This record gives sequence, C-alpha cells and structure tokens, in this order.
Amino acid sequence: MSSKPSPVFFGSVINGTQARFASFAGKLNKIIEKLDFSTIDKKDKVAIKMHLGFHDGYQTVPVFFVRRIVKAVKDAGGYPFVTDNPTAVYNAVDRGYTAETCGCPIIPVAGVKDGYTKKVEINFGNVKTLELAGVMHDADVLVDLTHAKGHNTCGFGGAFKNIALGGYHGPSRWNKIHGVEHSIPYFDKDKITPEYAKKLVETCPEDCIKYDEEKDEFKILFGMCNQCWKCMEADKDVGALDIKQENFAMFQELLAIASKEVLKTFDEKKQFFINFAIDITGACDCWGLAQPPVIHDIGIIAGRDIVAVDHATLDLIAKAGLVESLIPPYYRNLNLDPEADLHPFQRLHGPMKNPYLVTEYGEKLGLGTRNYELVEVLSPEETKDMEAPQTVSEASPSFF
Ligand code: SF4
Repeated sequence: MSSKPSPVFFGSVINGTQARFASFAGKLNKIIEKLDFSTIDKKDKVAIKMHLGFHDGYQTVPVFFVRRIVKAVKDAGGYPFVTDNPTAVYNAVDRGYTAETCGCPIIPVAGVKDGYTKKVEINFGNVKTLELAGVMHDADVLVDLTHAKGHNTCGFGGAFKNIALGGYHGPSRWNKIHGVEHSIPYFDKDKITPEYAKKLVETCPEDCIKYDEEKDEFKILFGMCNQCWKCMEADKDVGALDIKQENFAMFQELLAIASKEVLKTFDEKKQFFINFAIDITGACDCWGLAQPPVIHDIGIIAGRDIVAVDHATLDLIAKAGLVESLIPPYYRNLNLDPEADLHPFQRLHGPMKNPYLVTEYGEKLGLGTRNYELVEVLSPEETKDMEAPQTVSEASPSFF
C-alpha cells in the first residue's frame, strides 16, 4: 500500500439540522465542490457512466442527483452525456431517465447496435481481447457514477464494476468477462462420465451445474454459486471436482484489468468516481427487479482514486452490516455467524466472493491506493448547532 492516503469525500444520509445545506442533497453540492470539476476543460465531452437499470430494476442513482451532477459539469464548461448499454438506454425512460429529466443526452455506450468498439489486448486467462465501448473511448472526461450494491458474481458492484462490465460491448461482457472463471480447471474430465455429470447437476440447489449431453460439455456457472459445497460433498468419493478460490477471484482480477484499459483513455485529471451507497440491494441493478435494501442507506462516497473510493465504500458497508429482517429467503447459504470474519456481501454470496479483491488487484495495477483518508463533509456533528431556517416547507404558494 502507498504511504500517502488518497482523500475520499463522504456525505452521510444523516443530516445534523433540518436545513437544505445540511441535507443529503446539500452534501452532494459540497462533494462536487471538493471533487473540483475545474480540471474539466471548456467543451470537453463528459461521459457520465451509469447503470440505468433494467425492466423493474429501478434502484439506481436517482435522477434527482444525476441532474445535479449534469448541471455541475455544464457549469464547469463541459458537455455531459449519460451513457450505458443500449438496452438500458432504450428503456431508461421507464425508470425516469430521459434527456429532459437528466438535463443531457443519453447515449448508448457502444453505439445503437452495440457494435461501435475498439479492440483492446487483455491476455488474461481465456480472454485474449475485449471490445471497449467506442463512446467511452471518445469521451474526454469520465464521471463514473455508480450505485453501490451487492453482485452475485464478485460480491460487490462498485466503481470498478460499472466501467469494467459497462465499459465494453455486450458480447465482451457476457461471453468473455463472465466466462473467465473457466480459465482455471475445476474438474477432472476423465471422471465426469455423462451419467456422473447428470448426477452432479442434481446436487446443486442453485442450478449452476450444467451438462450439455450433446456436446458432452460440463460446466459450473460461478456467478450463482454460493459455495454451499453440496456438490463437493456428493463428489467426495470420486474426487472429480476441484473448485478453488482462484476460479472466483479471476473475475475480479479481470474487472481491475478491464477498468485499467478504460481509464487509460482518460487523462488522470479527468476521472471522477462517485458512489451512491443508498438502496443497497444484494444483487446487481441488471437483475431487472425490485429488491429489498439489505444494508441501510449510507451516503455518497467520492474521489479521484477508483481504488480508494471502492475500498472506502466497502468499509462503510462492512461497518453498517446487514439488516437481517430485510434479507430475502433466496440467499440460501446465508452466514450470519458474528464470529465469522466476513464482509456482509460474503455473508450473502459466499466466503469466496470477497468483495475487496477488486481493490487489491486495482492497487497492484497502479490504479490507486487502498490507503485512504475519509473526509466527511457537513457531518451531523458539524451541522447540528448551525443556524437553520425557521421553516423548510412552503409557507405560501411560491410558484408565482
Ligand atoms: S458449491 Fe453449491 S452452489 Fe456451488 S456449484 Fe456446488 S452445489 Fe452448486
């Protein structure tokens, strides 16, 4: 770890007094001030990379805040646009995101047919190349605007995940990045006869062991594996399976590598990372359904160092802990043992989905430091004795 801590600005959802300046929205203003958009040059094209949700998955960064960030970018002289994958862009209106509500255009990240891309060399595991989204490549400035939440494949969906999966076209995302876990062998082909493969399929309560008889193809979908080890138990006398931590970790290492390729296309002074840790669900926004927020609302975590911002976000989530009454029953391998040294997202998704790995890999790649200094803005302690207006609601019609 680097000895010089990176500043990470934090605005809690808790306000110390009933005044707009001290509220969560007021804290976003202060954080934007601290982030200092003055490094955005006049007429810079500013990509505000978001996840705009999918179907009924509306628990993303509220348009109220997007609009405010868009305005701040415009005030700095930039030309902002919101961007995400084409499906999310086309139906963003269903979740309240339009050019009118956001205050700027919404552009598909790799073009209208998801084919406007630039090939980048990756050479990691079974992934030789990826197709980087052309619109991200063209932009001058990146605002990585992220809804912090859990993620079934790697535990955590934060700033890294937003640009690593969201910064590439669909086939790169779904076929390559989501297939990297198969780079390390995890079964002995000689021991997996068709009959035995079918037996192993039956052992998995999560339906993540797949066998294609026609192709004689056996695989485990690691994204849904919660490490219950029922398959390993059933296999103990045969020893055909050998699922390792490395299989799970490869996905996170690739997230860091893919993020590096995206970040390379932006000047260091033109990268901003803003995580909204509110409405923190167990799974990703792409699930397309409403989910219970399993962690209480925390606040905004922002800075210019992606490693520090994601690391601080994970620490704050760890401190908050799970709201047990809101955990849905489909987390079947839930570990609530207080003695177990696990992050809340590991308690949901299994111990091998350590959400901190991505920041560790990111740091090794030189993308930032896990050594951060949390700078809280307008803390409740700071604002509780400040003078607040007598009334905050409309006392009489103010429209005219
Ligand atoms: S560990 Fe559990 S969830 Fe994972 S593949 Fe085996 S049976 Fe399925």
